[in-house]
Amino acid sequence: MAQVRVRFAPSPTGPLHIGGVKTALYNYLFAKKNNGNFILRIEDTDQARFVEGAEEYIMESLKWCGIIVDEGINEGGNYGPYRQSERRAIYRQYADILIDKGDVYYAFDTPEQLENLRRESEKAGNTFIYNATVREKLSNSVSLQENLWKEKLEKGEPYVLRYKMPHNEDIHFEDIIRGHIVVNTRTLDDKVLFKSDGMPTYHLANIVDDHLMEISHVIRGEEWLPSLPLHFMLYHSFGWDPPLFAHLPLLLKPDGKGKLSKRDGDKMGFPVFPLFWPYGETAKGYREEGYYPEAFVNMLALLGWNPGTEQEIFSMKKLIEAFTIDRVGKSGSRFDPEKAKWFNHQYLQNRTNTQLALEFREFLRARGYHVDIVDLETLVGLVKERVSFVKDIWEQADFFFRAPETYDQEVIKKRWKEDSAALLLELRSLLEKINDFSAAGTETVVKAWIEEKGYNTGAIMNAFRLVVVGTSRGPHMFDIISWIGKEETLKRIDKGLSIIGK
Ligand code: GLU
Repeated sequence: MAQVRVRFAPSPTGPLHIGGVKTALYNYLFAKKNNGNFILRIEDTDQARFVEGAEEYIMESLKWCGIIVDEGINEGGNYGPYRQSERRAIYRQYADILIDKGDVYYAFDTPEQLENLRRESEKAGNTFIYNATVREKLSNSVSLQENLWKEKLEKGEPYVLRYKMPHNEDIHFEDIIRGHIVVNTRTLDDKVLFKSDGMPTYHLANIVDDHLMEISHVIRGEEWLPSLPLHFMLYHSFGWDPPLFAHLPLLLKPDGKGKLSKRDGDKMGFPVFPLFWPYGETAKGYREEGYYPEAFVNMLALLGWNPGTEQEIFSMKKLIEAFTIDRVGKSGSRFDPEKAKWFNHQYLQNRTNTQLALEFREFLRARGYHVDIVDLETLVGLVKERVSFVKDIWEQADFFFRAPETYDQEVIKKRWKEDSAALLLELRSLLEKINDFSAAGTETVVKAWIEEKGYNTGAIMNAFRLVVVGTSRGPHMFDIISWIGKEETLKRIDKGLSIIGK
């Protein structure tokens, strides 16, 4: 294969949707698998849709995911500038080439005139298409006499440049994922390539840049498939070889009905953006929700691509090794928020207790708890299996840090028996005498005592857990009391007895 060069070409119109991150990821995996370059090009020619902060957001999102840009605004490269608004002059030159060839023409119709035509067509039950069937009747350099349209130009009348789509021709082209496609030009319109504000539209800028940047493969979302016939025509008009195209399937709502949107996330409580979006209508991000970037990337990679095996856990390195476009499916992939959590759970289990302790220590610090790292290592080891996020450790382990304020009434009703208080008092004096307050140390003594007295282990341990934890949850009791220590354990028994009673 010739030098592989792919690009991710987002428009900075708001936060980058996870579908966009998926597109970036697939481009990146494909590039790295084939020793190619991954280019980040910012497509900001639509000034009306430009949103402040979006460009930085895109860059930070890629960085968080571990997607390394080879060429771009910050990285530089031999094909810059990498921001389209800085390439303005280039596009006009290329538009002029097509004007000279007769494939592009000037159109002077005002937005109001076009709107009226659209409305009239609608009334008649049709859709207005600016194409060969109406071109001759409208105000442009194809229909008007040369001196007339030139006069308009000289007078400085606003105009757009349109592509002269041939009439009733079959265009044949290939997509790596979708195979051979045929479209008849009857269904296409004379797209605007250059706007009256002096900026190119997406179509022109995109084709010119892909060509000048020597892009070998265009891998992008399925929503761009309808633009593909025009793009092929443009390559043809310029006399350039088109790159290879691969249109990726959409990310679908959890119920499979339609494209995944921010509203779905809001309704069901999951983010559809990689990072928190702080501007205007704010939006949740995977990073801030506590996801590991590796888990997030792993999950996204499998939403549309499959390795052909049962394997689900892939590091970025493994994804690069395994990735091939022919394993990208044609149909959309349903987003499953529970599966997203599952991935994070897996990655969290694979972290060492030391890593988790360090992460949890940050969380505790923010809440004013300062705990020795060795103690935290023990603690996270006790609860990690039950959690999917570092922040959940707190929910599973709050009682390690503070005595219960209240006691679960349900548990009291079920587990607190007539002799519970007396048994706990006896246990209290037993514990008080133990010097080795390690989990094993206390367990040996307590078990021996229970056996010797012929007591019921369950009855004692349930009451004990209730006064120490406040309810029936949590890891092994002896692990808990060893961690909180003798003094705290005895205090909790006293407090529990005084509140729950005899
Ligand atoms: N600027 C387009 C977008 O926002 C790029 C589409 C393409 O990759 O050609 O998605």
